[in-house]
Amino acid sequence: MATAAADQVQTPAETQNGEQKTRHQEVGHKSLLQSDALYQYILETSVYPREPECMKELREITAKHPWNIMTTSADEGQFLSMIVKLMNAKKTMEIGVYTGYSLLATALALPEDGKILAMDINRENYELGLPVIQKAGVAHKIDFREGPALPMLDELLNDPINHSSFDFVFVDADKDNYLNYHSRLIDLVRPGGLIGYDNTLWNGTVAVPADTPMRKYIRYYRDFVLELNKALAADQRVEICQLPVGDGVTLCRRVS
Ligand code: SAH
Ligand code: CA
Repeated sequence: MATAAADQVQTPAETQNGEQKTRHQEVGHKSLLQSDALYQYILETSVYPREPECMKELREITAKHPWNIMTTSADEGQFLSMIVKLMNAKKTMEIGVYTGYSLLATALALPEDGKILAMDINRENYELGLPVIQKAGVAHKIDFREGPALPMLDELLNDPINHSSFDFVFVDADKDNYLNYHSRLIDLVRPGGLIGYDNTLWNGTVAVPADTPMRKYIRYYRDFVLELNKALAADQRVEICQLPVGDGVTLCRRVS
C-alpha cells in the first residue's frame, strides 16, 4: 500500500507535454483505489448513468479549467447527495466552492426551501459554473459569499440565532485552517448534524514515510491533514467516520 502511494506522489507532473492527462492521474480519488480500472468501473456502472445532466455539464466545463484537479469527483458528488437526502437536511454550508460541483450536488438534493451558505475566496470560478446552476433551477437555494471563510464563521457565531442551526457542512477549502473551522463549526452545526471534511487521506500521503518525495504543496498541507485526523479521532464532541471516497472524507456527527 505504502509503495503504491509513494509511486503516486513521485509521478512527474508538469514536465511533460500531456500535462493535463498526467495531472489527472494524480487525482486522489483514483490513487486511493486498487486500480484505475476499478475506479472506472464504479463511475461507469453506478455513477455516470445516474448523474443528472446538469452535473455532467458542470463537470465537463470544469474539466477544461486549469485547476480541475480541485473538483469534487462524480462519485463523491453522488455520495454527498445521498447524505443530504438521508439527513433530510434543510440548511447547509459549504466552505470551498470552486466551480460548484459539490454545491450543485447539494443544491439538487435539498428540498425547494433548502438553503446553502457557500463561501469561497474566489468568485470567478463560482461564476463559471453559475449558469449551469441557474439552468438547473436551484440557484435560489444558494447564498454565495466571497471571502475567507474564517472571519465569516466568526461573524455567524456573533449572532446566537446561527448557533446549532446547520444540518450539514461540507469543508473543502484550505486544509491548514480545518482545525480552526472545526472549533467554530462545532457550535454552528446542530447536535446530530454532520460536518464532512474533505481530502483527509491527502492523496494517500498520510500513510507514507515523511521522507517520501512529494510535491511541495502536498508536503505542506500533509502535516495539517495528519494533525486534523488525530484531533478529530480524539474529539469526544463528535462521532467520526473516515471514508475512502474521493480523496478521503471524514464525517463528524455532533453528539451533543
Ligand atoms: N468543493 C469544490 C472544490 C473546492 S477546491 C468542488 O466541488 O469543486 C478548494 C476551494 O477552496 C478553492 O475554490 C479555493 O478558492 C477555496 N479556498 C481556499 N482558501 C479559502 C478560504 N480561506 N476561505 C474560503 N475558501 C477558500
Ligand atoms: Ca476536495
